[in-house]
Amino acid sequence: MKSAPFEHHQPTSVGEAVSLLESLDGPTVLSGGQSLVPMLRFRLANPDVVVDINGIEELDYLHEDDGYLKIGALARHADVEHSDLIAEKYGSFADAAPLVADPQIRNRGTVVGSVAQADPKGDWGSLLIAHGGEVVAHGPDGERVIPADEFFLLPYDTSLDEDELITEVRIPVPSEREGSAYHKLKRKTGDYAMAGVGVCLRFDDDGVVESAGIGMTAVDITNARASDAEDHLEGERPSPDLFEEAGELAAEQSHPESDEHGDAAYKERMVDVLTQRALGDAAERAGVVRRTVNP
Ligand SMILES: Cc1cc2nc3c(=O)[nH]c(=O)nc-3n(C[C@H](O)[C@H](O)[C@H](O)COP(=O)(O)OP(=O)(O)OC[C@H]3O[C@@H](n4cnc5c(N)ncnc54)[C@H](O)[C@@H]3O)c2cc1C
Repeated sequence: MKSAPFEHHQPTSVGEAVSLLESLDGPTVLSGGQSLVPMLRFRLANPDVVVDINGIEELDYLHEDDGYLKIGALARHADVEHSDLIAEKYGSFADAAPLVADPQIRNRGTVVGSVAQADPKGDWGSLLIAHGGEVVAHGPDGERVIPADEFFLLPYDTSLDEDELITEVRIPVPSEREGSAYHKLKRKTGDYAMAGVGVCLRFDDDGVVESAGIGMTAVDITNARASDAEDHLEGERPSPDLFEEAGELAAEQSHPESDEHGDAAYKERMVDVLTQRALGDAAERAGVVRRTVNP
């Protein structure tokens, strides 16, 4: 099936894009097109106007600046996957990137587009939640910074206004005693997560958990925070027992649905397991625990 006809605009600056979004009737932003183009072709989306942001070079970045890791709206999943900065300092992002979809989709799809799509099975939203990340939007009234917790409202629904463009997503640069990880269960390459858990742990100088962030994928109506598990971890020393308790709490706070990939009880159990694994990796990457393999 082919898409219905639409007007195609290709701005070359953020200012021009925002003016178009404000002045045109019912516009839709196109970035990597990996979700939008199939929706157009199946006529699940029928916009009159498409504002294609691929010509806005100023949005193509992935760097640290002003205390944040900033991912511009044109940074592709593959840019994260192949970044030395990510490999060196951002364990959870390095874990997640090669597990997103398949190589073709990763070459074209963007991190910001995935966040904007707000699919509860998307991986990046969970990591924004775990890291205390933010979504930066530009609209007619200028810049607006939306905490990840306030961004995802319902499946495919966010607090972004129709005339706003997301220019970047960002997370704080990790402190010295911080580690993060992402664990995801999927059946095969190209599939979305059956369940996924992203973790960010920050420790004090005595090795006590100062702050814990846990975001869950595909087990609720949006990417979701496991706040009970976070509260349980904070102020405690890492141990297998503590991580086991946190895993159970995360599973209790998840609300997966049964589908062709597995039943709800199985997915809940997987949240428990994935949380424990991600916590172990995060603590090890923070340099706080050292795990040994049994001979
Ligand atoms: C087979 C398949 C498997 C996939 N597997 C995964 C997976 O495992 N994990 C995962 O996270 N994702 C997965 N995806 C989704 C993929 O990551 C897409 O790249 C992503 O959802 C959309 O990014 P995009 O850049 O292609 O955005 P587009 O398709 O261009 O846009 C998606 C939506 O976001 C809006 N949008 C895009 N950019 C902006 C912006 N800057 N400001 C405001 N609104 C914007 C668009 O209007 C549209 O509504 C999969 C997709 C497919 C087709």
